[in-house]
Amino acid sequence: MTDKDCLFCKIIDGQIPSHKVYENDLVLAFLDIFPLSYGHTIVIPKKHYYNFLDMPEDDMGNYFKELKKISLLIKEKLKIDGFNIVQNNFPAAGQVIPHLHFHIIPRMKGDGPLRMIPGKVQAKEDDLRKIIKKIKD
Ligand SMILES: [Zn+2]
Repeated sequence: MTDKDCLFCKIIDGQIPSHKVYENDLVLAFLDIFPLSYGHTIVIPKKHYYNFLDMPEDDMGNYFKELKKISLLIKEKLKIDGFNIVQNNFPAAGQVIPHLHFHIIPRMKGDGPLRMIPGKVQAKEDDLRKIIKKIKD
């Protein structure tokens, strides 16, 4: 169940490279290349769902278990103080990619309120590689 025109389906397929944080049969987690903070990660189901309302209720428990596992991995490996989980539905709410995704946005003490302004500066390849190395160590 993939959409050939979907950017995230292409990342799952490997047609577009990504910096993978974690992967299993259900989900793929990878670093956002326009990060809002150090270690900003996107978690997507491998099945193409448009947004939260499309995800079958019977599958939600399993997806949330994965989301928790990945959050914990990032928290421990990157030694962050906290994190936000953000998920946008429909363009009016800021949904840009038409494939359900959760943002895990690492936060440090003193960061202040979360600002969901899309990053304008693309992360450097080398910096993303270093983050992945830290997570995989
Ligand atoms: Zn897709």
